[in-house]
Formats: sequence, C-alpha cells, structure tokens
Amino acid sequence: MLAPHRSNSLPLKEFFAALLLGVDIGGTKLALVVGDAAGRIVARRQRPMAPSGDAHKDVADLATEAHRLLRETGVPPDEIACVGLCAPGPIDSAAGCVRNPPNLPGWRDVPLVRQVREVLRRPVHLENDANAAALAEWRFGAGRGCSDMVYLTMSTGVGGGLILGGRLHRGQTGRAGELGHLPIEWDGEPCACGLRGCFEAYVGGAAWTRRLRAHTSAGSRVAQLAGGPEQVNPEHVVRAAGEGDAFALAELDRFNRYLARGIAAIAFALAPERVVLGTIPSAAGEALCLEPLRRLVAERIWPDIGAALEIVPSTLGDERPYRAALCAALEGITARAH
Ligand SMILES: [Zn+2]
Repeated sequence: MLAPHRSNSLPLKEFFAALLLGVDIGGTKLALVVGDAAGRIVARRQRPMAPSGDAHKDVADLATEAHRLLRETGVPPDEIACVGLCAPGPIDSAAGCVRNPPNLPGWRDVPLVRQVREVLRRPVHLENDANAAALAEWRFGAGRGCSDMVYLTMSTGVGGGLILGGRLHRGQTGRAGELGHLPIEWDGEPCACGLRGCFEAYVGGAAWTRRLRAHTSAGSRVAQLAGGPEQVNPEHVVRAAGEGDAFALAELDRFNRYLARGIAAIAFALAPERVVLGTIPSAAGEALCLEPLRRLVAERIWPDIGAALEIVPSTLGDERPYRAALCAALEGITARAH
C-alpha cells in the first residue's frame, strides 16, 4: 500500500492549468521549457551553455532566450505562474543566489532570482540541480508513488536530493542532501571538495575516471575500447565488463561495493522506500550494477529496512533537465501556497 501524496497532490490539483517556465542551467547545456504542473510540455529548447566569464551577461542572455521561447510559443509572460531555475550548487535558495559553482566560471554570488525577475517580471524560484532532479524523478520518473525517496545524480560528481514525507527536504540551512560527501573511508582518497574519503571520491565519474586512467594497462581490453589508457572512462569499463573482461569486472565490483556502503548509510539514516540512481548505474544496468548492488546493500542493513527499500535506476534520461526545471517552478508555487 503506497502512502498518499499529501503535499504534492494539493498543488497539482490547484495549479493544474497554470503555465510554468523552466530554465535548467548546466555547465555545458542550457535547457528551457514551457509546460504545466502535470508535466505536459508546450515548448522546449536546448542549446550549448558557454559561460562567458561574465555572469551578468550570461544571465541576461538566458533571460533573452526565455523571452524568445515565450514569444515563439505565443504565451504572454504574464500567463506564466512561476519561473523555475535549476543551477549547479552551491546555491542559496532563500536568497536566490548562485554561490560559486565550479563548472560556471565567473559565477560568484550571482543574484540570479532578482536578475531574472527584473527581466521577466514574474515570480522566480531557484533550486539546486540535484534537488530539482530529485523532484523530477519523484513526480514524473522512477520515484513516482512513494513519499520517501533519495535520488543520487551519479555523473561527474555525486549529488543528492531527499524527498521525505512527501516533500523536498532542504534542512535548516538548505544544505541537506550533500550525499556525495558522506565520509566513506576515513583518511581515504582526496575529494574535489577538499576533504578526504568522500563517497564521491569513490563513485563519482570524475574520480573514477582519474583512477581508471592511472590503473589501466595499455594492452587491456578497456584501453583498447577507449583508444588508449589516457582516454578511458567508466563507459569503457561497462562495455568491457559486458564482454567478461576481468579487470573491468573487478573495477565494477569495487564501484558497486563503495556504492553499497553509501546506500547502506543512507538506508539506516532515512529508511527511504526507494533509492533512485542516476547516470552511471543506469547505464551499467541490472546485471553489472543493480543486481549485485542490491545484494551488497542487503548484506549490510537490517532485513526489515532492506525489505522496504527498492534500489532502482532513474527513468527520465534526456527528459530530466526539462522536468527538473518545471519542478523548480512548481516548487516556487507550492512554497508560496504553504
Ligand atoms: Zn567531498
């Protein structure tokens, strides 16, 4: 029996007809969407994001792009109930500021909400990309139907989003869900954040890629698939493991074991109904990642917590940026409703 969606069914019903504008700001791509709270998409667009080094100019460009999409779609800006912005962390959601994301050069303490509001003259809500992606998986993807869900982004780094009791959990300071920096090995591998032994330093794509390039021998199947050890990334490991290559299988086993440690810690802390896993585990698939992972987690947590926990791949794929941006806009509306 699934728990009812208390806090998201009320706004969905109440704002079903409201139009939303969403903008997902990534390090390499900008995605824009006009849609509604039910996830119906009226129009969408994606273009490369090339930060100029001048955040003010970049924000003016994206606001112009948003204006253009509305004009081409024939939606007057005053019909937009809320504009949702997703940006890489760290952000200050309450102040509407992007702090200093490593993949947006020149963006430091950018008052994104104020600048976009001045151009579009509509309410604007800013959400960090992992939280927005968690909301998107919960409303439209692999997290549908549960009230306690944890989403792990798992691409270059590891971001987390927590849906607890049927709503996004931000914590007192808005910094809840930084699951990529759970300490998994005391005095372990250095992490991009400056600490050591973080979850991300073992299962983040960038960290794993660095390790693979240092440990892959030139004559191996993985190096052959990549065109040389210096080109290796997790995708080549997944392919070689699928062919039965011993080195690739050992690397995937190591990845799965570290991933299981993090999920076991999350399971004991939060006892979620579902953990939804993003890019790398979704790409690796059931046989190489998800099935062994479920076994490893089950060995490390109590049976009653394990019995209630599902570990599943994300399902939104390329849809995620659009759904996430709509969810950020919807979050702006529900925040006001509360
Ligand atoms: Zn870290």
